[in-house]
This record gives sequence, C-alpha cells and structure tokens, in this order.
Amino acid sequence: MKIMPMTVRPLKASKDTSRVGLDGLGISVCELSASGMCGSITAPQEPNKPLRTGRMRRYRVLPYVLAVLVAVCLGGLWWVRHPQEPPLAQGTALFLTPHPDDETFGMGQAISHQVRSGRRVVVVLMTDGEGSEIAKDWAANGGTDVDGDADIDRWDFGLARRAEFESAMRALGVSEWRCEGASASQGATGIQDGTLSGIELASVVESIAAQYEPVSYFTVMEYRGDSARLTGDTKPNEDHTALCEAVCDVAVESETQAYFYKPYAYYKSAKILRWAPLVSRGDSEDFERKKVAVQAYSGIAKRSTLTLWVNSQKDRDEYAVPLSWIGGE
Ligand SMILES: [Zn+2]
Repeated sequence: MKIMPMTVRPLKASKDTSRVGLDGLGISVCELSASGMCGSITAPQEPNKPLRTGRMRRYRVLPYVLAVLVAVCLGGLWWVRHPQEPPLAQGTALFLTPHPDDETFGMGQAISHQVRSGRRVVVVLMTDGEGSEIAKDWAANGGTDVDGDADIDRWDFGLARRAEFESAMRALGVSEWRCEGASASQGATGIQDGTLSGIELASVVESIAAQYEPVSYFTVMEYRGDSARLTGDTKPNEDHTALCEAVCDVAVESETQAYFYKPYAYYKSAKILRWAPLVSRGDSEDFERKKVAVQAYSGIAKRSTLTLWVNSQKDRDEYAVPLSWIGGE
C-alpha cells in the first residue's frame, strides 16, 4: 500500500500566529503540538492567564474546604454533646440533695440507672426545703396540718415536701433514703433550710459517707457563671453552693469519684443552651421512672419551679460536671 504523505496547509499568518488565526483554521495549538505537526508555531500566552487559572482553581476548591470545615465543627459539637450512659458508682451510689426535687429534676435517670444496675443506692435529703418563698402561699391555699399540732406552718410545709420526695424515691425504685431536715422536730434537731453554708458541712458529709463506704458521690452543681445566662429563677442558691463545695472538698481529699449535676440547666428554654461536660441519659425505663418521680412533685415543687418541672420531663438528657473539672487533679 502506498502511503500518501500528509500535507499541511501552510498558515497564512506567518507574521501573525495568534489564536485568532488558528481558531480560524478550526484547530488549536495544542492539537497541533500533540500530533507533532506544530513545528515552530507557538501561541503567545496572555501574561495574566496562569494567575487567573490559579484563582479559578481556588474558587472551585473553596466550597469543598468549607464543607469539610462545617463537617468537622458538627462532628466536634456532636462529640461534646452526645449523651453517654450515666456513670456507675464504685461502691455505694451516695446521692446528696440540698432540697426535695433537686435530685429528681437533675439526676432522676442517674438514680434509676444505678438502682437497675444493681448498685446500692442511698439518697440523702439534706434539708426539707421549708424556707421556700411559697411556704406561706401553700399554707393559705390548700396547706394542711401535717404534724397535727393545730397550726399550719413552715414545718408542715417541710413535711409535705418531704412526702413528695419519698414518693419520688419510690417511683425511682430507691429503697434507702434518709432525711436530715429539721421539720419532723420543728427545728429542734436536724438541718434547717438555708443553713448549709453555716455548718461544718464537709464533716457532715464525711460522717454520712463513712456509713456506706466505699462510695461515689452524686450531688448538685453550684450555679457559677451559668446563672448569668439563665432565664427563670436566676438566684444562685447558697445551699446548692455549700453542698457542692463540701462534696468537692471531701471527694478530693479522699480521692473519691464524684459528679455534680445541674438541675438548673432546665431553666434554659432552648435545649441547645443546656450543656455540661458530661451529658448522660439512661434507657427508656429510666426516663419513664424519672417522669413518674417528677409527677410526684405535682403539688409543691410544680408550683414553686414550674419551668424545671415541665422541662425535666421533656428532656432525655441530664447534665453533669465530673470532679476533675472542678476539683482539679
Ligand atoms: Zn434546691
């Protein structure tokens, strides 16, 4: 077979080998180069073309970079907020609550989880909460003479609150609890509401714990800086602060596990604003028990802190601060 030599029509524009001339031929410089027919023809480059291409590449990559950044941020947020199982006690789970309802609102699922995991659970009600602002309102509107001494006073109110606490304990499956409050003796013995900061609380906590050793501590977190961003009852409570600090001191001293829960987290109307280093939840049975226990507080606690009563039944999560965050190591 005879191979005919390929002919290439010479470019007319010998003095002008611009892209216009090549475009007119319907062929590109690159195509010519690739086929080896380019010869000495070179297309002049626009001086700023490589720069523009670089910018274009950057613009094309930008959405992907942003998507990765958003994914990393969302992943981090999920990791920080995703609920874990409530921590289990090493030994007796010793729950200390300053007033009736703090334990159920703040750590009801944590209590139930310990019970159902077979731990020995002891819940200590430090005061009967008889100093509440609504004590007089309660006495005037449906309050009863609980102790039968022919009057309706704050001690009756304290005993009524204690009764709510005991119903809640039964709903959570707790069989051991103790009440350190003063209502039963009308102030003669026991700890009165509002006085935790004025007593040697750390030694009280130590002497209680000594009866159940070894223990892990579960109590309330003091308000600290959270109060500035709270809606609702924003007053830091002195009893909460005192109990938190006493348990913290004792736990650090004895190198004991301790967790501090935030019942006040539920004051925050938006769930996204509720946060703690440890966000935990029990299983559905724990949550059901907690809801029944919160219902046990439908008399006084509901009237006193309606927001907590409502939100603690809606939110599956509980918010805790481990000792290492506040006690240091
Ligand atoms: Zn309280």
